Formats: sequence, C-alpha cells, structure tokens
Amino acid sequence: MDMDKLVSLCRRRGFLFQSSEIYGGLNGFWDYGPLGVELKRNVRETWWRDMVTRHNELEVPPGAPTAYEMTGLDCTIIMHPQVWKCSGHYDLFHDHMVDCRESQRRYRHDQVRGRWVEAKGQRVFVTTMAETDAEQQEVEHRALKFFHLRPKDADQLRWDGSFVTLPHVDDLARVLGPDAKQLGTLTPPREFNLMFKTYVGALGGEDSAAFLRPETAQGIFVNFRNVVDSTRVRVPFGIAQIGKSFRNEITPRNFTFRSREFEQMEIEFFCHPSASADWYRYWRDRRVAWYTDLGLAGERLRLREHGPEELSHYSTGTADIEYAFPFLPDGEFGELEGIAHRGDFDLRSHMEGKLDPKTCPLELEKGPDGRPRWRGSGKDLTYRDDLTGERFIPHVVEPSAGADRAALAFLCEAYTEDQAPDEHGVLQSRTVLKLHPRLAPIKAAVFPLVKKDGMPEIAQEIYRALKPHAVVFYDEKGAVGRRYRRQDEAGTPYCITVDGQTLTDRTVTIRDRDSLAQWRVRVDDCVDELRKLLSAGDRTRS
Ligand code: ATP
Repeated sequence: MDMDKLVSLCRRRGFLFQSSEIYGGLNGFWDYGPLGVELKRNVRETWWRDMVTRHNELEVPPGAPTAYEMTGLDCTIIMHPQVWKCSGHYDLFHDHMVDCRESQRRYRHDQVRGRWVEAKGQRVFVTTMAETDAEQQEVEHRALKFFHLRPKDADQLRWDGSFVTLPHVDDLARVLGPDAKQLGTLTPPREFNLMFKTYVGALGGEDSAAFLRPETAQGIFVNFRNVVDSTRVRVPFGIAQIGKSFRNEITPRNFTFRSREFEQMEIEFFCHPSASADWYRYWRDRRVAWYTDLGLAGERLRLREHGPEELSHYSTGTADIEYAFPFLPDGEFGELEGIAHRGDFDLRSHMEGKLDPKTCPLELEKGPDGRPRWRGSGKDLTYRDDLTGERFIPHVVEPSAGADRAALAFLCEAYTEDQAPDEHGVLQSRTVLKLHPRLAPIKAAVFPLVKKDGMPEIAQEIYRALKPHAVVFYDEKGAVGRRYRRQDEAGTPYCITVDGQTLTDRTVTIRDRDSLAQWRVRVDDCVDELRKLLSAGDRTRS
C-alpha cells in the first residue's frame, strides 16, 4: 500500500489534519477531523467496552487463571513532580540525540540512517532522514554532490553494505550529516529528557516546575490505595485508563506514529506474585486477539517476545504487539502496544522511593550523601488478602497501547483499491476503507436515489429513525454512484437507498461496502436490520 495515498485520503476526507496548519503546522502534533474523531473515539470506546465495562467478573475468561475484576480511572495530566522522580522518568526517560554543528539541526541518534560509500579513494557514511522508499535516491544524490560527480558518473560510487542506523557507526569523522555539506559535523550522542516541562502557578521558579505526563500508568499506581479503599475490588483486578500523554520526541515522524502529543490506553493489572507469570501470558494473548478481532488479522501483525537481554531483571516477560506499517522498510515492524510483567517495581517505588533498576533484588537508589536519591510517598501500598490474611505487594502486568497508533494501523490495513460497478454496471476502480463496523466512523448512509417523487421524504424518515441508534449520514446531492464512492472512502459499511420501488412497496436497498451485495428490506425494518448487522460484527472474542 502506498502511504502517500492514505495520507492524502486522510486529509481530503477529514480524518487527520496537521495541527495549526494555517500557521504552517507544528511538527509532531495532529488534529483529528470530522471522520477521524469518530474513528478514534471508536478505537477508545471499543477498547474500554471490551476491557472494562463488558468484562464479567463472575466468569473465568478463556485462558485466564481465575475470574477477575476491572475498573477505571481518569487522572490528571500534571501530577506531583515527585511521581516522575520516583518512577525513574526524571532521571532515565531520555533518548539520545546528535546535533549538527553545520546545519544546527538535531536528530535522534537511532533514527539517522545511511550507507557507506567509496569514491575517489575516500570512504564516507552518507546519511539521510528521508522516508525509506526515498532513501537510496537521496543518499545517491548526496554522495554525488559530496564527491563532485555528475549523475552519469554514478557507477563510480562503490556502495558497501545496506542501510544501517548511526549507532552502528563508530567513526563520526567520516559521517556526512543528513543536512550537512562537510564531513564530521555531527556531535557524539547526548541524552535528552523527553518530558515536557511546565510551571504550576504564578511564581514560575524551579520549585513550581512540573511535567506533562509521558504515560498514563503512573496515575494508576499512585491511586492504587484510593481504588482499593473506595471500592470492594480484590486482587486480582485491573485499573484501566485512557488519556493524553506527551513526549518531546526529538524527531517526530511517520504521520501520527511518533507524535509529541498522543493518547494511551493502559491497564495496570494487580495480582499475587505467584500468579503473575500466568497473568502475563493471559494479557499478552488477549491483547493480540483484540487487534485480530478488529481486522488486523494478516501477517502484518505480530507478537514479539523480548529476549532475556531486553528484559529488566524484575520482569519475567515483556512482549510487543507490532504492525508492519507501510512507511517502514520491508521486514520491519512498529510497536502498537507493549505488554510488560513489571513485578512489584512500581508500587515499591512509590512507597519507598526511586529504586535502582540495576540492583537485584531491587534496592533504593542512593544519592552522593548516601541518602535515598528520591524519597517515595511513605504510604503503605501493600495489599492484605482478607480471606487468607496474607499481606503482600501485588505484582503488576501492564498492557500499554497507543490509541493513535492503533487508529493508524486500522486505517493502513483497511485501505483497499478494488473495482466496483458504477450505476451503469461499468466496472470502475474505487478506493475503500474496509474498517471493522465497530470502528467505522459512520455506520450507515441514507440516500434518496433522486431528489424528487417523495424519495427524500422517505429517506429522511429512515434517517430520523436510525439516528438514536447509530452514527448515520444523509446525502441527497449528486449522482448516487458518487455518493457510494464517498461512503466507501469513509469506510461506511452500509448504504441504504430509497428508489422507485420504494414508492410502490415501501422497501429499500441495503448495500454492503465490502461484498457489494444488495438486498431489500422494508422501510419499517431498517432500524432492526442495521442493529442486527452491526451487532453481528460487535462480537469479538476478547
Ligand atoms: P517507541 O519505542 O516506539 O518510542 P515506547 O516503547 O517508548 O515506543 P511505550 O512507552 O511502551 O512506548 O508506550 C506505550 C504505547 O504508547 C506504545 O506502544 C505506543 O502505542 C504509544 N506511544 C508511545 N510513544 C508514542 C508516540 N510518540 N506517538 C504515538 N504513540 C506513542
């Protein structure tokens, strides 16, 4: 699939716009337009319903060790700064960046890609920030310029190896930076904290410095005690939260995939330490099933278990659910969601203070004065099982997903070009978003075939009847073939058309977006029929 086509459809049809576009846009920030807002709401609501409100705590779901409870939370974006000090984000949440002394630009170290090339007796690593499908063309162009060669002399360039990222290159003196004309202008990598800083209140000094949250998870941990004390939940249980997170990404790119403001859908699942490995496996498999049920069923979706070298020692497992986004090089996948077994790391950190992740068993990190580097809350975040009397610090399994990345993956997977007959029966190419009906922004469109003979009145009657049940769209403008095409592009699964026959027998056609099948139903049965169609797709395994 050609990513440019999807990007242009998203803009043209109002799924996604660049933020503040009339002022030239702001890199890494995106606005969801009229169709996009419905799609993203559906992603969020489907997740919330499947994970929280539809969950039946009286039954043991397939694959789960036992029955369990689920509850929700909605906490603030700005929290007490100590939260981030104890969680480790203040000290450790950074990427590595390199600066270019010549162009004054800044790049994320692991996102600069390039190839070694030799010409005129000199060996150089030529880099680029171009998208993968354009990178060879770009490095060739830059190499020719650097060596003062003309395009017809391209065979004098001897390429060595395939594209690699900058961390694989030791000798920065031989690197031609992505926007530089001379060699060796990139600085060695430096740490850059990704948290956005702000100031609370009017005074504005360092004492009032705070951060926009880089993840929603910490708000759940710091409310663990509140939830346990104010509800009757018992371990094992999960707390879910959906909300905005902010990361000052060094080089936001790939459409919404890496944004600076985005939305997360996170669960912190609290369980007994002896059962946490089983719960980890349950959540990993359950979360994969959620994506496949919603249409990411092909080979582009994969589950990748982290190897032992990638795991923190307090974790018995971490897996990423990944999707082969079309903007990535062939064979590469981008993370949609991480599922991590986190042991008791988080609750202990907020109780005792920042833990040193390099210690085993975990110990408090000490400052140069031998005192704890960052003090915890001192509050008791242990849990007492009232049936067994046992007191313990629950272990945590964390499925952490991004709503924007999920929406983007669903769009990529749904984008299809095929052929469909127009109103004269002639096959025409069409662009269609084959979104799962639960995710589709509009569930049905209602058309009068022509704008006369009482057809609009009947179509409006149907529209009025459907409105309380689903997001529906009424359209009487232009040729009906064109109206179908517009709905196909918007991903609308069903179109209902009032035609000449309706005037005699009060039946209308319903057209299925994917199979193009058409069948007739009575005007008075439209609500039931649509509800039936939508609820058939409403059942997911998860
Ligand atoms: P990456 O390695 O791609 O930066 P991450 O491992 O830092 O991601 P997590 O901290 O595990 O990501 O965040 C959980 C989820 O939040 C990710 O799987 C992703 O869906 C989403 N997410 C994280 N960073 C961004 C971002 N900059 N833009 C959009 N979504 C994001």
